[in-house]
Amino acid sequence: AKQSGRGRFSYFTRSMSERAEQRLALEHALRRALQDDELFLVYQPKFLLPGQRVFGAEALVRWRQPDGTVVPPDQFIRLAEESGLIHQIDEWVMLSACRQMRAWQEAGIAIVPVSVNVSLARLDVDRLLQGTRRALDATGIAAHMLEIEFTESQMFAQQDLARALLAQLKELGVSLAVDDFGTGYSSLSYLAAYEFDTLKIDRSFIHNLHESARHQAIVRAIIGLGHALGYRLIAEGVEKIEDAQTLQNYGCLGMQGYFFSRPLAAEDFAAVLMNAPAP
Ligand code: C2E
Ligand code: CA
Ligand code: CA
Ligand code: CA
Repeated sequence: AKQSGRGRFSYFTRSMSERAEQRLALEHALRRALQDDELFLVYQPKFLLPGQRVFGAEALVRWRQPDGTVVPPDQFIRLAEESGLIHQIDEWVMLSACRQMRAWQEAGIAIVPVSVNVSLARLDVDRLLQGTRRALDATGIAAHMLEIEFTESQMFAQQDLARALLAQLKELGVSLAVDDFGTGYSSLSYLAAYEFDTLKIDRSFIHNLHESARHQAIVRAIIGLGHALGYRLIAEGVEKIEDAQTLQNYGCLGMQGYFFSRPLAAEDFAAVLMNAPAP
């Protein structure tokens, strides 16, 4: 019994330490990624119906490893949050998005506002404000051309910090969006407490919207509430024309999703902007 007990124990510790080792290796690789510029951004256009004018884009981070493999954010953002590397990543993303906008402007391209995702998992209000200011100052991009998306579940976890942060970002002039709206715990109470510019309706409600009476009821209520509070509304994860039509019938005219466009390489998004009719 003793033998098997020890056996079990060592089995357990080995698998734990293997996992820890794997994490450590990944964390090490991620540090290197930041240093060696292995991260890059793709841009998913946001469309305004009925004309399908591109009115913005969301910058999404990708990691190209030395062997060419491209890693999606779902596979490293969580680890980055746990290890604290997320601050550097989000700062890098913000600065890179602003630099890209600047480069487009210098090439004579009429730009649209770009949004970035900022994690609140290890919120450091001063650092985030500094990073935002630095990105704007270093590039000369007007604050209203930058939008920051926060997920509501993360905001809920630290309401006082979030309140201070949002007020100061507002003062800077950047736009603020609630990401994944409808999936958090306190959607309604913090809509009363904070002032955002945009609500992004979570894609779980949008997926097959046209077939689900329940999702239709929820989405209509969110749209009504959003409009009554003066928010811009955008539906994310629009994959089917039927869902786009349903949303349009409900009066939600901002849409993002594979039906309209996948996230694009910077050059491809620039081509979209260049082909857009003048506003
Ligand atoms: P998110 O902010 O909800 O971003 C939208 C995700 O949905 C993106 O995945 C996008 O490619 C995907 N998507 C867009 N349209 C569709 C669609 O029609 N159908 C489906 N099924 N998916 C669609 P991505 O780029 O893999 O990003 C995943 C998540 O990673 C993001 O979710 C965001 O939470 C996080 N993330 C991405 N970039 C960053 C970043 O720079 N910083 C931080 N902190 N988080 C990031
Ligand atoms: Ca987002
Ligand atoms: Ca989202
Ligand atoms: Ca999400």
